[in-house]
Amino acid sequence: MATYKVPCMHCSTLVERDAHFCPQCGSRSPFGYQCPACLKPIERGNAVCASCGRQLTTLCPYCGGSTFVGAQNCDACGKTLLIRCESKRCGELQFFENPKCTVCGKRIKKAKKQIENIRKGGK
Ligand SMILES: [Zn+2]
Ligand SMILES: [Zn+2]
Ligand SMILES: [Zn+2]
Ligand SMILES: [Zn+2]
Repeated sequence: MATYKVPCMHCSTLVERDAHFCPQCGSRSPFGYQCPACLKPIERGNAVCASCGRQLTTLCPYCGGSTFVGAQNCDACGKTLLIRCESKRCGELQFFENPKCTVCGKRIKKAKKQIENIRKGGK
């Protein structure tokens, strides 16, 4: 099977075209935006997800600016919009508004605390 590499749209690292995540930045959608709730492809500029109806803009928890949910970083302040799944075995990056991990299904209970830590300058 021939593979070729394509730059990750988030960090520009070259990633195998059939990879399901970027090894550099951990994005699970290296070649396009995806809905953080249903993981279907979404387009910047659309109001809602065509698959699940989720709003595709939200307010950044750090600066309060309006930002696109498919982006990994706030459009306004550039801070990361991703937090870690709290399952130690999983640990996948998840959109901060996700009530549960899209990979392992575990509920994310400490989103607010993680956001608080990032706001204070931690990671
Ligand atoms: Zn990347
Ligand atoms: Zn969706
Ligand atoms: Zn922001
Ligand atoms: Zn998980």
